[in-house]
Amino acid sequence: MTKPTIVWFRQDLRLADQAALAAAAREGPIVALYVLDDNGPRKWRMGGAQRWWLHHSLDALARSLGRHHVPLILCSGPAAAQVAAVAKEAGATRVHALHHVEPWWQAAEEALAGTLDLVLHPGQHLADPREVRTGAGGRYRIFTPFWRALQAQLPPPAPQPAPEHLHAHGSLRSEALGDWALLPTRPNWARGFDIWTPGEAGAAEVLEDFADRVAAYDHDRNLPSIEGSSRLSPHLHFGEVSPTAVWHAARKAAPRSADPFLREVGWRDFTANLVDLFPNIGARNGRDTFDRLPWREGAAADRDFRAWTQGRTGYPIVDAGMRQLWTSGWMHNRVRMIVASFLTKHLLIDWRRGERWFWDTLVDADYGNNAVNWQWVAGTGIDSNPFGRIMAPLTQSAKFDAADYIREWVPELRDLADPAIHDPHGSGCAPPDYPEPLIGHREGRERALAAGAKVRGS
Ligand code: FAD
Repeated sequence: MTKPTIVWFRQDLRLADQAALAAAAREGPIVALYVLDDNGPRKWRMGGAQRWWLHHSLDALARSLGRHHVPLILCSGPAAAQVAAVAKEAGATRVHALHHVEPWWQAAEEALAGTLDLVLHPGQHLADPREVRTGAGGRYRIFTPFWRALQAQLPPPAPQPAPEHLHAHGSLRSEALGDWALLPTRPNWARGFDIWTPGEAGAAEVLEDFADRVAAYDHDRNLPSIEGSSRLSPHLHFGEVSPTAVWHAARKAAPRSADPFLREVGWRDFTANLVDLFPNIGARNGRDTFDRLPWREGAAADRDFRAWTQGRTGYPIVDAGMRQLWTSGWMHNRVRMIVASFLTKHLLIDWRRGERWFWDTLVDADYGNNAVNWQWVAGTGIDSNPFGRIMAPLTQSAKFDAADYIREWVPELRDLADPAIHDPHGSGCAPPDYPEPLIGHREGRERALAAGAKVRGS
């Protein structure tokens, strides 16, 4: 009997353009495996919103594999040990997987490579971030030159269709998806997540739908009141569509005007590059001098933090964003920047607390994208805004025409007209049930600048 080969799925839950699956399928019978590893650093266990997504995405993957009569084997426990155990049970010696940069995946890859023939394939990024190099062979720490060098490696190879034939290797023991309790029970905070369709088919639909909007992306992406961006982030995070497929679809849809969109997809490669270089980027300031920044702590800061998470800061654009996040598991990019700036500057609360909240509540919570963007806004990162750049939420709200967005997410303000809705307190028409601002804009700005001045070189 031909030995089976293991396909180890991680954040690459698709059949099309999945090089590990294609390679294994060429070799003979396969064992399709997913391991839920909650044994790594507690802090980086998948958050609640991601778990909701994972449940549905694994369900979709299992159904797609089922059409080829291949069962998806589910195991929980330390990833490397579980893969090795399944390989032993199946009599397999080779494992195919896509390479991932997150430190816990790299550790698992290392552990596994010592015991099995682990073959790693590219497929999570437009190009292997480790291969995007300066002329002298060094690595990039700043986005613009990284993007220039990455573009020199593009276009990426054409995406490959799903293998036509897959052969299963008999049946192995599997845990039941339902037993993993990935979905919320009571309270069911995920009711508003029904706007999403996790899985490869859902991702393909979103990509197809976005094709009509690629050309307008450069302008529309900044307007939270309309659907101007792709909303592909959770699908890309879970690898339900390959970045390569996204690249080619966008180019085809808008041959001459896809660049602004593709540049954003390039940011995803850049954050992977930084994670590979600085695996601790989710926990440590990119610039050590910021370790001295006097972030606020204690009861008053805790109270402000809670108000921020609940969307009760008294700043409509901030509150709309935080409520969109809680209800739908996603937030518009411009608003992510505004709420992150508000937390780290106006409230002077450590970016890591905001990062944690996003980690738990975003369906697209991604180690690199989240940490790098938080540090970028906070001003503590390797490539980031200067700390003194403080976004003015009320001005941003008016500039990017967020009135309808606020009406959608902050019902107390629904009846306010423009421009009062951007600044209900300043314009004297705040309804009684809408909270007072936690801090005035000027006051918050001055406090942040004074704190920043204590950090040499900021
Ligand atoms: P589009 O604008 O359509 O972009 C297409 C794709 O490009 C996105 O799906 C995403 O994969 C990638 N992308 C776009 N912008 C960025 C960026 N700035 N950095 C990295 N990749 C980008 N994105 C995440 O995927 N996960 C996160 O956990 C995350 N946390 C963030 C935290 C903060 C404080 C900020 C300011 C941004 C964060 N982002 C994160 C980046 C960005 O907000 C989202 O990728 C984007 O809003 C997703 O919506 P979209 O798919 O419609 O994006």
